[in-house]
Amino acid sequence: MKNYDVIILGAGASGLMCAANLSKKIDTALIECNEKPAKKLKISGGGKCNITNVSVKIDNFDGNENLISSAFKKFSKDDLLNFLDRNRVELELRKGRYYFCKYSSDDIINVLKKNTKNSEIILNNTVLHVTKEDERFSIKTDKDVYKAKKVVVATGGKSFQTLGASDIGLQIAKSFGIGVKEFTPALVGLTVQKEQFWMKDLSGLSCYVHVKVAGRVLKEEMLFAHKGISGPAILSASLYWQKGEINIDFLPDKNILDLVQNSKKLVSSVMPLPKRLAKALLSAIGFDDKECAKLTKKEKELLKTLHNYTFSPAGNFGFTKAEVSRGGVLAEELEYNTLEAKKVKGLYFIGEVVDATGELGGYNFQWAFSSAYACAKALK
Ligand SMILES: Cc1cc2nc3c(=O)[nH]c(=O)nc-3n(C[C@H](O)[C@H](O)[C@H](O)COP(=O)(O)OP(=O)(O)OC[C@H]3O[C@@H](n4cnc5c(N)ncnc54)[C@H](O)[C@@H]3O)c2cc1C
Repeated sequence: MKNYDVIILGAGASGLMCAANLSKKIDTALIECNEKPAKKLKISGGGKCNITNVSVKIDNFDGNENLISSAFKKFSKDDLLNFLDRNRVELELRKGRYYFCKYSSDDIINVLKKNTKNSEIILNNTVLHVTKEDERFSIKTDKDVYKAKKVVVATGGKSFQTLGASDIGLQIAKSFGIGVKEFTPALVGLTVQKEQFWMKDLSGLSCYVHVKVAGRVLKEEMLFAHKGISGPAILSASLYWQKGEINIDFLPDKNILDLVQNSKKLVSSVMPLPKRLAKALLSAIGFDDKECAKLTKKEKELLKTLHNYTFSPAGNFGFTKAEVSRGGVLAEELEYNTLEAKKVKGLYFIGEVVDATGELGGYNFQWAFSSAYACAKALK
């Protein structure tokens, strides 16, 4: 049985980045349940992964401010962009804010693999549990037992189990008495109650909205889907929604009272939305479409609801559709600088397994890479 200095559990985004930044002198192995590394990275962003964002702020995350900012201080968005540039990965900027691979996520996976050449990658091994005895960790997989002085848990979240995802990271943490917040689906579409079933009839339509939830405002497109509502604004809103109301402004940056001024047109015709959506919205707020010039004061008041449509979603589309898992190993259980567990020397947690989750827009890869780098630098 081989003894390693460091074993990284999971060869996904954070595991590979951690290995890539370890000194060559450190004898390292990654253990991965899949037949190849980084399957989630490969399919993300439609195969061109949205790797980071023009603006990466603590406000874009659900998690502990000190923990997250500590990792970003060590490896920022600019450090990530420089790393990719040095390795000749070409990126493209979409909507002026999202960095995607210009050609394919494979470009990043290949760079990470090239930089981890000094580490052994043990594939097709599912980690079952980890124990510590006499300052050494034993990692039991479905195939073998591996030993290491230090262990980095980089097993990600629970969503998309078809890609190898599991909650083994939380099980490992709990087995050492480390506190966790159970995973729940996030960056996921929301289902609606029967009062909002009209939204499902608009399946396929999208519009730019402002969604208010739990004191946040998400400004992006929303998509009407046959199961409920989705699209970037709703996916990000799902990070902050647990139960209760959300509020949508369907005409952001416009004023419905300006739009309906003195027009002989129908209200639905002056709304800068697809006609079918405009009509469905008016009906949803209990307004009978009519000529703008004939609107009463009371009807004008009612139209203002379009800026402030409030309802309670029923639930979400679940882990099979969620891009990430909210929750994870609690920040207070970790040393902010190193991601080492306070209760277990030599045991580290990085990436999505930590209770730090970003909105849609490249924030989750940024966190995966920043936390991985911070940990690697501590593993000297
Ligand atoms: C469809 C989809 C699209 C996404 N698009 C984006 C995007 O464009 N931008 C963005 O920022 N984020 C995106 N994300 C989120 C992003 O992929 C994750 O946040 C990120 O991969 C987390 O990195 P990680 O290293 O923590 O986990 P992962 O990359 O998931 O790596 C964990 C690794 O551990 C392995 N593993 C799990 N359990 C075991 C076990 N028991 N034994 C051995 N190995 C195990 C897994 O197989 C996996 O390889 C997307 C997610 C999905 C599902």
